[in-house]
Amino acid sequence: MNERDSEDVAYKLKEKGYEIVSDEKIADVVLLNTCSVREQAELKAIGKAGHLLRSQNKNTRPIVGVMGCMAQNRGADLFDHLPDLDLVVGTQKFHRVPQYVDSLIDRVGDIPKRIVAIEDEEGSESEIKDHLDTEIDNPTAFVSIMQGCNMNCSFCIVPKTRGKERYRTIESIVEECRELADRGIREVTLLGQIVNAYGRGSLRKINNKTPFVQLLESIDKIDGLERIRFTSPHPISFGEDLINCYKTIPSLCEYVHLPMQSGSDRILKLMNRPYSRQRYLEIAMKLREVNPKMRLSTDIIVGFPDETENDFELTKSAFEEVNFEMAFIFKYSERKGTPAVSFNNHVPREVKEQRNQVLLSLLEKQSLKSNNLSIGKRFQILVESKAKRGVGKLMGRTRCNRKVIYDGENCEIGQMFNVQISSATPTTLFGEKI
Ligand code: SF4
Repeated sequence: MNERDSEDVAYKLKEKGYEIVSDEKIADVVLLNTCSVREQAELKAIGKAGHLLRSQNKNTRPIVGVMGCMAQNRGADLFDHLPDLDLVVGTQKFHRVPQYVDSLIDRVGDIPKRIVAIEDEEGSESEIKDHLDTEIDNPTAFVSIMQGCNMNCSFCIVPKTRGKERYRTIESIVEECRELADRGIREVTLLGQIVNAYGRGSLRKINNKTPFVQLLESIDKIDGLERIRFTSPHPISFGEDLINCYKTIPSLCEYVHLPMQSGSDRILKLMNRPYSRQRYLEIAMKLREVNPKMRLSTDIIVGFPDETENDFELTKSAFEEVNFEMAFIFKYSERKGTPAVSFNNHVPREVKEQRNQVLLSLLEKQSLKSNNLSIGKRFQILVESKAKRGVGKLMGRTRCNRKVIYDGENCEIGQMFNVQISSATPTTLFGEKI
C-alpha cells in the first residue's frame, strides 16, 4: 500500500514540474513515506529524518517531510523528536503534497514554516487514486480498491491511521485494470487493508456473491490481463464464494496470503480476531482442495500479551498443519493507542525472540521442502526484472508467487513463458527457459 501511495505522490509532484532524482544527496525535497505497524519502523523513520535534517547546513538542507501512517498517528508530536521537520502529511492528504511542497518552497514573511496536514478528507473515497497516469516500467501493478479498516484488532494501529473503510466502485476499478492491460500490464495486485471485505455494507451481494467476488469476476474478463492477486484478506470474509473462485476464475493466481496471527483461540479472542483456529484450518484445507497447486503464506505475531507456552505450541502446530511456505513472523510490538498495550502479562523480550526463531526455522524447513518438490517441474513465469545478483540473470514469478531466477535477455522482461526448475533454496527457485 505504501509503495502504491509513494508512486502516486511521485507522479503528482512530476505533474507539477518536479523531477525525481536518484540520490537524496542532490534532492531539494525529501519525503519519507512511513509505516506505523511496528515501533521499529517508526524509530527507523525518525532516525532517517533526523539524519537528513542534521546532515546539511540549515539554510541549504532539503525540505524534509514525513508522510503516511506515522505522520497520521503522531501528527505535530513529531516535532518533539524532529523540531526542524518541515512537513507532516497524513494518509488522507497525499494528493495535496505538491501544494504543500510549493508553499514550503515559496515561504516568505508570515507564511508558517511548517505544515501539518492530518485531518480526514471529505468525500474521502475519491482520495483512493487510480493508476492511469503513473509511469509503468514493469509488467505488474498495484491497484488500490479500498482504504481503511473497520475491524479493531487489539494490536493494530491501522484503523487509527487509515480511518474507516472507503471503497472505490467496481466500475472504476475495472476501468483502471482495463487501461493498465492496454498499457502492457499482465498482472494486477488488488490492495486493501481488509481487501476481501471490499464493499461490505455498501454494495449488494448478487447471486450470493460478495462484491469482492463480483469484482474478481469482472477483472478476469479483461483481455490481456493474465494474472490477478490480492492482499491482504481476512479469514472472516473468506467465504465459500471466494474459495470457489480458485476453481472458476482462470486468472486468479493459486496463492493466498491469509494472516492467521495466532493458532490459539484464546489469543485470537484477546486479539479481537473473530474466527477460530478451526475455521482458519478449514479455509486453508478447502483452498488446497479446490486447487492442489495452491501455496499459502501468512502473518503471525509471537509474544502477544499473555501468550503462554501452550498458546505458542498451538500456533506452531497450526503452522505445521497448514504447511505455510511463506510467512511474515513478527514479535509483538506495543503500539500506543491500541487496546493491547494495557493488557496484562506482557511477554519478555527474550521469550518473544525465542518463539520467533522457532517459527523462522520451521518456515525455512517447510519452504525448502516445498521448493525442492518443484525441482524437475515446469512453471509458467512472468518475467518482472533483472535479478538482484548475477550478470544476465532475470527474475520471474510463478503463479504461486515463487521467485524464479534464470538466464535471459533484458528484452524478455514483461513476457510469460515456461521454465524448468533445476535447483532451489528456501526462498528462490532456479531454472532454465524451455
Ligand atoms: S483487519 Fe488488519 S488492518 Fe484491520 S485492524 Fe485487523 S490487523 Fe489491522
